[in-house]
Amino acid sequence: MKQKIYQALENVFILENKKNIIESGIVKKIDVLKDEIRIHISLYNPTMHIKKKLKKDILKSIKYKNLDTKKICLKIEIKLRRNTDQKISGIKNILAVASGKGGVGKSTIATNIAVSLVKMGFHVGLLDADIYGPSIPLMFNIEEDKIHSSILKKKNNSYVMNPITSYGVKIISLGFFSKSGEAVVWRGPMATKALRQFIHDTDWGPLDFLIVDLPPGTGDIHLSILQDIPLKGIIIVSTPQKISLSDVHRSVAMFRIRSIQVPILGIIENMSFLLENKTKEKQYFFGKNGVKNFSKKMNIFFLGEIPMLQEIREYSDLGVPVVLENDQIRKIFEKITKNIINKLS
Ligand code: ADP
Repeated sequence: MKQKIYQALENVFILENKKNIIESGIVKKIDVLKDEIRIHISLYNPTMHIKKKLKKDILKSIKYKNLDTKKICLKIEIKLRRNTDQKISGIKNILAVASGKGGVGKSTIATNIAVSLVKMGFHVGLLDADIYGPSIPLMFNIEEDKIHSSILKKKNNSYVMNPITSYGVKIISLGFFSKSGEAVVWRGPMATKALRQFIHDTDWGPLDFLIVDLPPGTGDIHLSILQDIPLKGIIIVSTPQKISLSDVHRSVAMFRIRSIQVPILGIIENMSFLLENKTKEKQYFFGKNGVKNFSKKMNIFFLGEIPMLQEIREYSDLGVPVVLENDQIRKIFEKITKNIINKLS
């Protein structure tokens, strides 16, 4: 029986690999039990469509050998070949900012953490990987003309990308490659390829920190980034209400998949409360302590809370990081940034 299964699996190939799945060594174990045949596979390609296709091909091939597919239990474990050991030369710490939902302030927070780090004297880069809405160029007031005239440069006979520096932060964004108001559909594999180039083919120079602003949610693109970039840690952003936290829960589960295991440095609560101008009373618009309670439950460090403030939105729209203009917010971000550095060490 086992022999027949092996023969069936020898007729299954995975994309981009000319070897069959037995030759390529991804079939780890076959257990023939009384009522069940368990096939254990470790897949190094994290994309869901590859996993689905593989399942379909295996079952087809087994059926072809006149074996009963009802007995087959396929266990496909996605193993990421994480590059954590393969450092990117010149970059000391790569951190990602993630959220469950869009619109919770992830990019605003990535921006102000990056600028706070610059203010502390660090060399900082920011990679805007938000394929759904790269907003970093706007938040840093980077004009389109500047992008097109200076994004590529020649180095050692080949072209490399040249980050654009704004408020002391070296920036590369997917938004640099589309005109404002123009729809760009970055499909998974294309976005992954572009991001890989942004990381590896950009002349970042020496950096203490490279902050990666991830797209919201969980998906193939996240798994690819986690596999491809030697991340030191993840910073999660959420607003306090249930709707936002339920999506964060999924993100946390993804970062904690056994084969990924990127350390979560902590979670930041954004839009914690609204400050009543006259009375200075705090109004808990989205509920009180939602993220704090979640962090305790999930055993994630609470990095700090940021109030909901009109000025934050206004400076964002103007393309000025609010930490440069508002003292109260500057102090809050300073504390959060110090917490992140402490967590790293
Ligand atoms: P995300 O990256 O999660 O999609 P953004 O950072 O783009 O979210 O923020 C969405 C909107 O909310 C922006 O207009 C931003 O200026 C605003 N915003 C973010 N945080 C705050 C805050 N604490 N107070 C007021 N407005 C905020």
